[in-house]
Amino acid sequence: MRIFDPHIHMTSRTTGDYEQMYAVGVRAVVEPAFWLGQPRTSVGSFVDYFDALIGWEPFRAAQFGIRHHCAIALNPKEANDPRCVEVLDELPRYLVKDGVVAVGEVGYDSMTPEEDEAFARQLELAVEHDLPVLVHTPHRDKISGTRRTLDVIRESGIPPYRVIIDHLNEVTVGLVADSGCWMGFSIYPDTKMDPDRMVAILREYGTRSVLVNSAADWGRSDPLRTHRTGRAMLAAGFTDDDVDTVLWRNPVAFFAQSGRLDVGDDAGGDGEDIEDIEDIGGVGGVVPAEPTATFAGNSVLRGTRPES
Ligand SMILES: [Zn+2]
Repeated sequence: MRIFDPHIHMTSRTTGDYEQMYAVGVRAVVEPAFWLGQPRTSVGSFVDYFDALIGWEPFRAAQFGIRHHCAIALNPKEANDPRCVEVLDELPRYLVKDGVVAVGEVGYDSMTPEEDEAFARQLELAVEHDLPVLVHTPHRDKISGTRRTLDVIRESGIPPYRVIIDHLNEVTVGLVADSGCWMGFSIYPDTKMDPDRMVAILREYGTRSVLVNSAADWGRSDPLRTHRTGRAMLAAGFTDDDVDTVLWRNPVAFFAQSGRLDVGDDAGGDGEDIEDIEDIGGVGGVVPAEPTATFAGNSVLRGTRPES
C-alpha cells in the first residue's frame, strides 16, 4: 500500500511517527498551515512557522523517506485576531516557493465577518498564484458552514476542481458531491470519521475525487489512520486499485495542479501491510536515510553521532 497523507501537521509529531508512517507505506504528505493550540501574538510567529514548513520539516521528513510539501495560509481561527491578520500581506512571498503546493487551510471556524474577509482574500491569492486550495469546514454548524463555504467558492470564480473541501462526514458529503470540488475526509481515533464510516461513504459515493487524511496534529489523533482506512477498504471488498486511487492517485492528481508536486519516481508500493503497529517493533527501527545530514547546521540525531 502506498499512501499520500494530504493533511497532516508533522511539526507537532515525532520522529517515531515518521518511522511508523514509513513502515506502513506513507511516502508523501502535505502539511497545511494552521494554529498552535494557543493564540499567536504577532506576524513574526507565522513567519518562523512558514519558514519551518518549507525548510526544517521537509528536511526532517526526508530523513525518514517521506516527501513533505505544505500549504500556506492564515488559518480560519486566527483570521479573527487583529494581531494576526497582517500576515495576509506576507503570504504572496511564500506562495511562490517550491514546496508550497496549495493555499490552506482556509475557510470558516465561527463564520464571522473577519473570517469571510480572510477566506475571500486567500481564494483570490490562490487564483493569482495558480494554486489549488485546501478548505477546512467548521466543526460546529457543519451543514450551514459547508453550504456557505460552497457559496463563497462559487462567488470567488476559482474552478471547483482546484478546491478540496476537507473534514467532510455523512451529513456534509452530499452537499459537496455534486459541486465539482474534491472531497476530503479526516479519520480520527475517537471523533468525526472512523475507517468503517469512511468505507460506508466510499460504498455510496465511490472513490472519485475522494481524499482521506489523518489530520494528525498536537491533539488526540493518529498519523496511521490513512493506512487503517486502506485496510478497512480491503476488508470490505474494495480492490488494491481502489485503495491506491483514494490513498495515492487522488491526492497526487489534486496537488499536481500546483505544478510543484514532487513525489519521486520510486514512490510507494513497498509499505508493509501491518495489522498491529506493535509488529513494526516500536520506534527506533528505521535509521534515517542520511544520518549525518544537516539543515542549517542541525540534524535529526541526538547524542552520539554515528561514524561518518
Ligand atoms: Zn488541519
